[in-house]
Amino acid sequence: MSKYRINTNCVQAGYTPKNGEPRVVPIIQSTTFKYDTSEDMGKLFDLEASGYFYTRLQNPTNDHVAAKIAALEGGTAAMLTSSGQAASFYSIFNICSCGDHVVSSTTIYGGTYNLFAVTMKRMGIEFTFVAPDADDETLDAAFRPNTKAVFGETIANPALAVLDIERFAAAAHRHGVPLIVDNTFATPINCRPFEWGADIVIHSTTKYMDGHASGVGGVIVDSGKFDWMAHAERYPGLTTPDESYHGITYVEKFGQEGAYITKATAQLMRDFGSIQSPQNAFLLNLGLETLHVRVPRHCENGMAVAEYLQNHEKVAWVNYPSLKDNQYYALAQKYLPNGSCGVVSFGVKGGRKAAEAFMKELKLAAIVTHVADARTCVLHPASATHRQMNDQELEAAGVSPDLIRFSVGIEDKRDIIADLEQALSKIG
Ligand SMILES: *Cc1c(COP(=O)(O)O)cnc(C)c1O
Repeated sequence: MSKYRINTNCVQAGYTPKNGEPRVVPIIQSTTFKYDTSEDMGKLFDLEASGYFYTRLQNPTNDHVAAKIAALEGGTAAMLTSSGQAASFYSIFNICSCGDHVVSSTTIYGGTYNLFAVTMKRMGIEFTFVAPDADDETLDAAFRPNTKAVFGETIANPALAVLDIERFAAAAHRHGVPLIVDNTFATPINCRPFEWGADIVIHSTTKYMDGHASGVGGVIVDSGKFDWMAHAERYPGLTTPDESYHGITYVEKFGQEGAYITKATAQLMRDFGSIQSPQNAFLLNLGLETLHVRVPRHCENGMAVAEYLQNHEKVAWVNYPSLKDNQYYALAQKYLPNGSCGVVSFGVKGGRKAAEAFMKELKLAAIVTHVADARTCVLHPASATHRQMNDQELEAAGVSPDLIRFSVGIEDKRDIIADLEQALSKIG
């Protein structure tokens, strides 16, 4: 555990150079690592010794950055992945296989929904989707004997629903399974789900963590708190010997704190290979060094934009969890007291057509698929990220057909609002 506060950890955690070593995390741009004897290398392949041998499994640059993120979230171990999608997939597949079942909040990122409802379903893993505000009875009824995990997003992209993490964690634990939380939009600056009972946290680091839209990436962090052994029959992958590593048992060998991430690295990275490139990990680390400075500015600007839109006659509705009349305001106050995020969603009067006309007039805010970086950007999810969903599924995911996702950057808020004003003035 780091002795420093989170703002210091953003800048310094994960890498402490020794005498004469580079001050900045070096990019170890090498696929492979050299050993003196075959025995030395054999020990690595048996997980008998720790060390690097091939970057598909582990790389020192990545490990420094993963260690920083583990410190920021208050976890025991972390692993970088090539994308947020890979992180979502690994986080579940690490403890599930064909025939298993997962309970997920309905308000999740469109790409995650597709991964769960279509692709992982084809792999024989079934998901039951439950509204984030479902009562405990409904939540409990979603569990089955083969349920292995619960999944949700701290602040859903793009529905901006705030997850009642404590309540979802309690439900997961009542049924002896871990809660996995996608903390992409909140970032550990605004919320650390482990402090509320979550067991695993994932991120699309592509968003605020990188912050500059320069590298796609993801991360999985383990709290080290879930007692796999207490539910050993449910998690044989962690609690019984792995024949592909000469019979080691992850929980026995790496403890409750290390088993989950070691298994994800040793098995899933080995076999699927969705490793983040060291170059991207380096860029991610540069972003992390200013995360604690950028996130409050995103929130300040986001609040200003939300308040401006709320008072505009051409705006039909505004959704921003930090607004007092928002349905998630109470949860936002509890879990995100310092601010929620820079993303504001709203609809203009005139619906879908008016949304498209309005977006065309924006000059500072660019239409891009991306969200949550330093530059203000905008998207119409129903015709982009969520276009595979029908109207019913859109509604369940909290995405109305007229929803405009406005991702407020860290520019001067007066310029962002002026851009909104001129674009709104041009629509009927
Ligand atoms: C973007 C996003 C993802 C997917 O991440 P990629 O890095 O694009 O693969 C997952 N969850 C949330 C909340 C996201 O915003």
